[in-house]
Amino acid sequence: MRLTSSEMLARLVAFPTVVGQPNGELIAFIAAYLEGHGAAVTVLPGPEGDRSNLFATLGDPGQPGYILSGHVDVVPAQEAGWLANPFALRRDGDRLIARGAVDMKGFVACVLAAVPDLAAMRLRAPLHIAITYDEESGCRGIVHLLKRLPDLCAPPLGAIVGEPTGMQPVLRHKGKAALRVAAKGIPGHSARPDLGRNAIHALVPTLVAARALAAELAATGVRDETFAPPCHTVQVGKIGGGEALNIIPESAWAEIEARVLPGADPEQVLAPVIAAARAEEGVTAEILAAYPALGMAEDDPLSRLVSELSGHPPRAPVSFGTEAGRYQAAGVPAVVCGPGDIGRAHKPEEYILAGELEAADTMIRALGRHLT
Ligand SMILES: [Zn+2]
Repeated sequence: MRLTSSEMLARLVAFPTVVGQPNGELIAFIAAYLEGHGAAVTVLPGPEGDRSNLFATLGDPGQPGYILSGHVDVVPAQEAGWLANPFALRRDGDRLIARGAVDMKGFVACVLAAVPDLAAMRLRAPLHIAITYDEESGCRGIVHLLKRLPDLCAPPLGAIVGEPTGMQPVLRHKGKAALRVAAKGIPGHSARPDLGRNAIHALVPTLVAARALAAELAATGVRDETFAPPCHTVQVGKIGGGEALNIIPESAWAEIEARVLPGADPEQVLAPVIAAARAEEGVTAEILAAYPALGMAEDDPLSRLVSELSGHPPRAPVSFGTEAGRYQAAGVPAVVCGPGDIGRAHKPEEYILAGELEAADTMIRALGRHLT
């Protein structure tokens, strides 16, 4: 089977692989396609039991090569504003419209469509294709692929994560941790607070600690002026608790996030908040999700290579997180570079332009030629 990238995109978006849900049919389609073109394919089922990553290699896996990486989970498509079925690719002029068109089945389609050409090249170093799940819930799926990477290939020279960047290499983004704190109280009539334990009151020191930490990080924390804002940030984003004003609250909770500059561990940054929570009776603290920052140097060989292949110099750091931070944390240099604009992601009528797919097609084939 030989398809153009837009034909391949039409195939991929028709599998409604919403984050947190099974992806077996799509992975089976990709595996069969890649095997049909001679790639060595490993399907890596995740611990959830109903979804998998996929890793494929063209060329000799014993040589250090490059990974082209993309996630195939998409955010749900129930928002108002879709003019037709979000899981059927629709063309409107240059726009190719579907859920996942830009984030990021478009890039994956370009990679897959290039496979027949890449397979025909005499690659002296291998090209790997990594397809992941559950990126949209905190880059969770790729963790299981990275654990298996040493069994699958020689240590790679680098990974290109094709999230939409307008084909401009992104070398740096912040990391993030999401924390949930929950307080369990003892309910009773509010006229006798002395007989119960107020869960909302128990949460207050944690909230105060979060606010103090945010202020401290802004005033005296590490700085990197290339980011906006140029410091780690912390904020309380959600809060709830209590039943009625005349009842001692039995439960209360809050969700707090930290976004950190490269070089810092987001869970570590939240440590004072976690400590404040755990110091209170009946309060628990749990990290819901975390992913590391990405911090590649401009003179790194991979940074230079991706600039050369894409034809664009690196752009300023971005505010969204990607799997590239996980690659780097696992010892694989990684750069984010892919077609389209992230501003169209997670919105109704999400689209990618046909010309944007062509630009990615060009970069991927240039990588293949670089390896011959
Ligand atoms: Zn994405």
